[in-house]
Amino acid sequence: MKFLKEACGVFGAYDMDGGPVISYLYWGLISQNHRGHHSHGFLTFDNGFSSHYGLDLLPPVRHPLTRKLFKKLRGAAGIGHVRYATSGKDNKRWLLRDTQPFIVEDGGAKIALAYNGNIVNVSQLRLELKSEFGNLSTSSDVELISKKLLQGLKKDRGLSSSVKACMREVEGAFSVVGLTQKGELFAFRDSLGIRPLCYGHDEDKKIFAVSSESVGLNINNFQYESEIKPGELLVWSKDGFTQEQLVKPKMRAFCSFEFAYFARPDSILNGGSKPVYKIREDFGRNLGKEDSEINNKIDIVISIPETGDDAAYGLHEQTGIHWARALRKHRYVTDRAFITTHKEREMIIMKKLNIGGEIKGKRVAAVEDSIVRGDTSRRIIKKMREAGAKKVHMYITFPRIISPCFYGIDMSTFSELIGAKHDATEIARIIGADSVHYQSIENFVKSTGLERDELCLGCLTCQYPTPLAQQIADKMKAKFEKGEKETGRVYESS
Ligand code: SF4
Repeated sequence: MKFLKEACGVFGAYDMDGGPVISYLYWGLISQNHRGHHSHGFLTFDNGFSSHYGLDLLPPVRHPLTRKLFKKLRGAAGIGHVRYATSGKDNKRWLLRDTQPFIVEDGGAKIALAYNGNIVNVSQLRLELKSEFGNLSTSSDVELISKKLLQGLKKDRGLSSSVKACMREVEGAFSVVGLTQKGELFAFRDSLGIRPLCYGHDEDKKIFAVSSESVGLNINNFQYESEIKPGELLVWSKDGFTQEQLVKPKMRAFCSFEFAYFARPDSILNGGSKPVYKIREDFGRNLGKEDSEINNKIDIVISIPETGDDAAYGLHEQTGIHWARALRKHRYVTDRAFITTHKEREMIIMKKLNIGGEIKGKRVAAVEDSIVRGDTSRRIIKKMREAGAKKVHMYITFPRIISPCFYGIDMSTFSELIGAKHDATEIARIIGADSVHYQSIENFVKSTGLERDELCLGCLTCQYPTPLAQQIADKMKAKFEKGEKETGRVYESS
């Protein structure tokens, strides 16, 4: 259970028979609201763009707003977005202004985009695009990527070559869905494939959809076809479907944190053969195998809901130690978009969590997905001790986070990361646990079904898959090691 600002979620749909796609967009985004609930937005094409934007979670299906939305957006091609601001400003005014899908128009060209990811070479792009388009109107990366595309389109370079320029000149993570001014749906992914993106269709292959996670296809009863490959562009139009490999990937770098934390447990990531929850069960088994003393020191396995649940089951299966769902979440306590400070968010998280009586007098193995700053873990452990736990040993599925993320996850400096400064023994002392056990990187990688060089492990190894991120990280690390104050989000400063 974290309050990291998550990556966003995107969804796009195209009906070859011309029917409205708004219901597919709505359900596709509802199923991905876990990827962002600062804001949401829909945009469809019906002889022009029509859109709707809002803050917070998507409204429930019977809400008057939803009914209005279904009536208003009648286009046969559409895109949508749920956002958690990892770049840009996060006060209410800016949240609304930065809500996606984003429309840009210049020199007779027009395009709408929704994207998931984070750009690293922001400063350079801002300068370049300001000189061509004047001042930028938002604080979000999506404007940069949209204008980068528009640069090519307004010179009549066509969609493929404009996207290709984007893939070559923008450094970072970007999984994009968009609509052209002719109402074509397109989708593409950066050449490393850092964030997820997949597509599928209905039984008759008349309605096509693109989704960050496969759950967006499942909820619409669509068949999963494939992940969109890194460096690939897909386009749906009245003339049919095209698929082009624009840039040949030199390597792959899928975000390993998606497996431990972000993705829904029932999603299939990266064209894998098993759902995320099976992978998390394996993580739990690995934790059991890696601690040869576990059966002598633990009476009960519990999970920190909900990302620790499947791993706790795996740990229980591996060790035979009783597993109890003693920690529960109050279902209707939710974050709201206008709660933006770290303190407020932490307060909400602690309100969400409730502990049953079963842990009293027990030596507890608490399974958690990760430790980032350590303050949430410390509070949860305190709560467990107050509930009578005799010992609290933490079992963490994601290996120790030692360095920041430059690709869309809200971990922007070394100094905010407890794992950058301390080893597992010191972390245990700081957060008030009796011990902390991290899964090894080797076992983590093995369980994902991917090879080590197909994953981004930047925040675990300080080895990043893109050059500018590596350069910035090295500079930040040198400052951090000298005890100098880091500025944070340096990759975004313009
Ligand atoms: S640095 Fe970490 S969180 Fe960021 S993309 Fe890489 S693995 Fe994911």
